[in-house]
Amino acid sequence: MKKNYLLGILAIIAFCSCNLSFSEEDLDVSPDVFEIPPNKYADMTSYEYYNQTDGQIIMFDFTKDLDEISAEDWASIKIKFNITNADYYNAADNNFPYPDYGKAMIDGVYGVIPRPVGYLDKYEIIPNPGQTTVYIKYMASDVSGIYKIIGDVYYKDNWIGSKYSKAIVAIPDLIEVPRDIWGEVVYTIGSVTWTNNYYQLWHVGGVYSYTWHQQNNYLNNVTYESLKEFANCYIQEYYKSHSEGFILRLNDMSLPYGGMFSIGITWTNDTAIERIDGFGNPYTVLYRKDVDLRVYCPYHKFHRHGVNFDLSLVSDDGAGGQITSMLTDFSIIDRIAIYYNFKFVREGNHYHFKYVYRRIDDPYFPNFPD
Ligand SMILES: [Zn+2]
Repeated sequence: MKKNYLLGILAIIAFCSCNLSFSEEDLDVSPDVFEIPPNKYADMTSYEYYNQTDGQIIMFDFTKDLDEISAEDWASIKIKFNITNADYYNAADNNFPYPDYGKAMIDGVYGVIPRPVGYLDKYEIIPNPGQTTVYIKYMASDVSGIYKIIGDVYYKDNWIGSKYSKAIVAIPDLIEVPRDIWGEVVYTIGSVTWTNNYYQLWHVGGVYSYTWHQQNNYLNNVTYESLKEFANCYIQEYYKSHSEGFILRLNDMSLPYGGMFSIGITWTNDTAIERIDGFGNPYTVLYRKDVDLRVYCPYHKFHRHGVNFDLSLVSDDGAGGQITSMLTDFSIIDRIAIYYNFKFVREGNHYHFKYVYRRIDDPYFPNFPD
C-alpha cells in the first residue's frame, strides 16, 4: 500500500503539472482509530429500537506548511472521502452476516447487496484558502466490523496523498462465552451416578449451529454472569422433580462485535430500501416478495446486542446434540427467570432469552418483542 502511494506520488510529480508537492506524510488524521457501536437505519424496520449515536467527528489536518500556496492553488485542492470495509467476509472474527450481505435486486439488477459501511455528512471538501483542518462526521452502519474512513487529497484533480481513520464498529464490552461447560454437578439416582454439565452450546451436523457463524457465542458481561447463575439454579431445580440429568442447550448469542446477525426469511410483500454506498452514492435494494432473503427479520433480529440468546426446548446430549425425549421444564423457567433478570418468549423450537436491565429507561436495548 505504502509503496503504491509512493509510486503514485512519484508518478504525479514526474508527469503532471502540479506545483504543489504533497504526500501522505503531510496529512494527519484524528482519531486514527476509534470504536463506535453499530447503528440501525430507521428505514429498515419499524419495530426494533436501536441506539443511534451522534457519530464520530474525524479531523483531517494538513501538517505541511502551506503558506506558499496561492489562493488560486487553494481552490484546486480537494479532499474526497469514502468508507470501505477493512476486514473480510470470512475473516476469523466472523463479524459479517452470512453468507455475504445476501442477494436482492440492486438498482434493478439481481446481485450481491453491497455491505453497508455507514455514511458521512459530506464526501468532498474544497478547503478555503488557508484552511488546514477539515472535519467530517461518520455514522456507523448496522453491520459490525472494521472500516476505514479515507480522505484522498487531490490537487488539480491529481491524487497527491491519503490518510485514513479506522472505525471498529462493535457493541461495547462483549466477551466470549466458553463453548463447553461452566461447571459440573455430580449426583446419584439409584445406582447411577450422573456427571452433568450446566450447559452446552448446541451443534448441528457435528459443527456448532450456524456454520457461517462459528463464533456466535458473545454476550456482555452482566448477561453472561446472570446466565451462569440462572443455569446453575435451573439444574438444581430440575433435579428436584426429575429423575435424569439435564443439560441446557444454548446458542445464537451475538457475533464477536455484535450487530447484524443472520439474514433471514422472505417476506410476502416487496420491500425497497434506500442505501448509500461508501462514496455517498445512493442505491436501492429491492427485496422481492417470496424470493429474496430479508435482513431484520425473524428469527435473529434481536441477536445483536450481547443480551439475547436462544435456549433449546430439549436437553443437550453432552456433545451439542439434542435429546428430544427430555424436554426443558417450562415451569422452572417460568418461575426462576425473572430472578436473573431474564425475559423470554417461545420461538419455534427454542426459547428466546433476553437480559433485562433494571433501569427501565435504558435506551440502549429494545423492548422485548410482543
Ligand atoms: Zn432468539
